[in-house]
Amino acid sequence: MTKKILVLPGDGIGPEIVAEALKVLNRLIATGLDVELEHGLVGGAAYDAEGHPLPPKTLEQARAADAILLGAVGGPQYESLDRPLRPEQGLLGLRAGLNLFSNLRPAILYPQLAEASTLKREVVSGLDIMIVRELTGGIYFGQPRGVRTLENGEKEGFNTLVYRESEIERIGRSAFEIARKRNKRVCSVDKANVLEVTELWRQVMIRVGKDYPDVELSHMYVDNAAMQLVRAPKQFDVMVTTNMFGDILSDAAAMLTGSIGMLPSASLDAAGKGMYEPIHGSAPDIAGRGVANPLATILSVAMMLRYSLGLTEQADRIEAAVGAVLDQGLRTADIAAQGQASVGTAEMGDAVVAALG
Ligand code: NAD
Repeated sequence: MTKKILVLPGDGIGPEIVAEALKVLNRLIATGLDVELEHGLVGGAAYDAEGHPLPPKTLEQARAADAILLGAVGGPQYESLDRPLRPEQGLLGLRAGLNLFSNLRPAILYPQLAEASTLKREVVSGLDIMIVRELTGGIYFGQPRGVRTLENGEKEGFNTLVYRESEIERIGRSAFEIARKRNKRVCSVDKANVLEVTELWRQVMIRVGKDYPDVELSHMYVDNAAMQLVRAPKQFDVMVTTNMFGDILSDAAAMLTGSIGMLPSASLDAAGKGMYEPIHGSAPDIAGRGVANPLATILSVAMMLRYSLGLTEQADRIEAAVGAVLDQGLRTADIAAQGQASVGTAEMGDAVVAALG
């Protein structure tokens, strides 16, 4: 059956980078990829047109789609709006409305870009880690939460770190399934020596791991994981962790690569349906100038084909094409070395399409 992809360009550089991703998708469609594209509004663009960052029609379209490709949302012109009307609420609403609990954040460093990292070339060249972060539970959502005034008048802030077995099990399965498509190693990151909730996390991971005897499971405390990520990051294949630990570790891992314009991400539900987007934001400082790097969005399309549509070969084709344009020496300004000539957004997109063959 023809799969449906909902395209949500969003704000700032969103429409520019999504246009290049669409060139790639359309090229694949012309050579046999069986998908149907639909377009919708989210973020500030949706607020401008419909008065809300996530109009009911967009949520309906998202529910009906097999996968969603999103550019980015946000911009300074929306910062004074009431919180529920701000562009970011469009994103949060999609994640919650579609129950996208599994956040996949790869940290990949193409050897051609090793100089972009602040770490030594031999430590990061060829890095390829996948961080699987639980996205809809843990301390960011746990109740009770708040700030209360104690009897002596002092204020006390509190949040609750809580995970149910079922929540741990489903993110565990997500990580093991992904590891099966990669190098078959999962490192579960916890703080089981101090936090009871992550002691349970570890027990459940061990239990789930029994269903995946072909995948090697290891465990690491989060403080050690932070240290190992900057000491010897290539030891990792898939890392799976809680919402807050994943938030912190995935940003550290992304910065190992030094190029925010290169990294895609995915947020998946239990059935593998997902929303795919670059990790960067709407970059209002460069919007409309045709200089944004479209590669993170193009690589988000590759992730979408791999993880939601099961089209590994087509995903490989896109990733190989991106590698080929980097080999040719093409660089947008954000990944160009000092003094190196750079190309614009459209030129980079066209080069990837040409490299697809
Ligand atoms: P940002 O990621 O948009 O930009 C940070 C820096 O990286 C900027 O200098 C920008 O020019 C550069 N950059 C980002 N993407 C690039 C690309 N593809 N090519 C070249 N350079 C790129 O983060 P910010 O400036 O903190 O936020 C800007 C807006 O984006 C805010 O409104 C924020 O809320 C929003 N935001 C949205 C998302 C999202 O849609 N998922 C994520 C983060 C931030």
